[in-house]
Amino acid sequence: MTYDYDLFVIGAGSGGVRASRISSSLGAKVAIAEEFRVGGTCVIRGCVPKKLFVYASHFSEDFEDAANYGWTVPKVSHDWKKLIANKDKEIDRLNGIYHTILSNNNVELYLNRAEIVDKNTVRVGDKTVTAKYILIATGGTPVMPEIPGIEHAISSNEVFHLEDFPKRVVVVGGGYIAVEFAGIFNGLGADVIQLYRGEQILRGFDHHVQKMVAQEITKKGVDLRTQSNPAKIEKTATGLLVTLEDGSTLEADTVMYATGRSANTDGVGLEGVGVELKGNGAVVVDEYSKTTVDNIYAVGDVTDRIALTPVALHEGMAFAETVFGGKPRAFNHSDVPSAVFSQPPVGSVGLTEAEARAQFGDVDIYKSEFRPMKQTLTLGSEKAMVKLIVEPKSDRVVGVHIVGADAGEIIQGIGIAVKCGATKEQFDATVGVHPTLAEEIVTMREKYTGE
Ligand code: NDP
Repeated sequence: MTYDYDLFVIGAGSGGVRASRISSSLGAKVAIAEEFRVGGTCVIRGCVPKKLFVYASHFSEDFEDAANYGWTVPKVSHDWKKLIANKDKEIDRLNGIYHTILSNNNVELYLNRAEIVDKNTVRVGDKTVTAKYILIATGGTPVMPEIPGIEHAISSNEVFHLEDFPKRVVVVGGGYIAVEFAGIFNGLGADVIQLYRGEQILRGFDHHVQKMVAQEITKKGVDLRTQSNPAKIEKTATGLLVTLEDGSTLEADTVMYATGRSANTDGVGLEGVGVELKGNGAVVVDEYSKTTVDNIYAVGDVTDRIALTPVALHEGMAFAETVFGGKPRAFNHSDVPSAVFSQPPVGSVGLTEAEARAQFGDVDIYKSEFRPMKQTLTLGSEKAMVKLIVEPKSDRVVGVHIVGADAGEIIQGIGIAVKCGATKEQFDATVGVHPTLAEEIVTMREKYTGE
């Protein structure tokens, strides 16, 4: 049986583009379909524009700090429209690069929605094409609870295109996106109230990270309210009126929901061909990213394993090597380092203390909380934290958690050590780089015995 393509990829985000490029370089004839913009969530309305916003927002604090380092800082103001325009220019540039990557690698691009008709046939726009393999890389989409007036709220899809800067912002949620955007709006000068339905934000993170981030973002001005959740939102003459579940009210110009994301599997034609989905709509895959249909694979957020771009890239490469490279490879999802670009940011790799205790019983903890050197001349009171979790029998460092400036940069290097199974003795034998925040990682000798 001959097919139009060896591989048809649905979704041109991080995972889909990487998988199509590598598959093509391994000799496959590849096509990819994208209904929105090539680049996916990360490039178009996720990691990249978010990080640019984080940079923009941090300047307010930098200006204050500069004065204490002897600079004369004139009255500053921020131009939101200029930030949006410059950000759009950069996203257009990256979008162009992604187009070039596809064409340079002979991947045929369909700028249309695609739907699977049968296990080897895809309808894309008004065409029907056949492929030996199909890869689902359709990503995820923000989900918002169905409360009255939710149509007045925005999600992370709209936040990058707000016409005017909102002076009063309510952010709902306590995960990555909520914490990052509370910090962005706060840094840019808005009054920010962050509402979280639970007791402690950043569920799933180490408990000292949760506590530290909550404490530090509060010190910087985010009005963090836990066990608090909107019941309804109404439009008024002066903005939005948010009524909370306890009956109290808040006024805001913008209400942003960051209450999780769900897999984009609606209307893709998956159930029709027998691809099994989880209860939450995500695609069920094995360790090689194969779905319950032999020639259909899925990578990235649509599989709801670890929703991070670099993970999707690895899954995409492992898929290509497995199917077209003759080298079956299952990507190992353990010890994935990640960062939350809160202010201050978080870098984490490996197990949390609770996970390590559940897995190993006894663990040794090393923890240091301190005032970073930069803060000594500023009026800021930002604190940093470094925490190591060690499995005592093997002496292996099984978790590292950092809160502080550049934590995301630092954890990348530490991620290699943890992935290699480095021991506490090897951390201790490593010479610190002085004076840095990161040197704490190799200089802690006293076990922490507190809560
Ligand atoms: P998360 O799953 O991280 O957080 C969702 C938050 O919303 C949680 O605090 C959750 O509370 C709360 N929530 C869920 N449903 C409701 C509801 N009905 N009412 C009120 N609150 C609710 O999702 P995000 O949207 O923040 O991010 C999605 C994913 O994107 C992340 O998991 C991450 O993998 C990825 N991401 C990564 C980034 C990075 O690497 N820096 C940045 C941004 C996103 P509860 O804890 O009680 O469930």
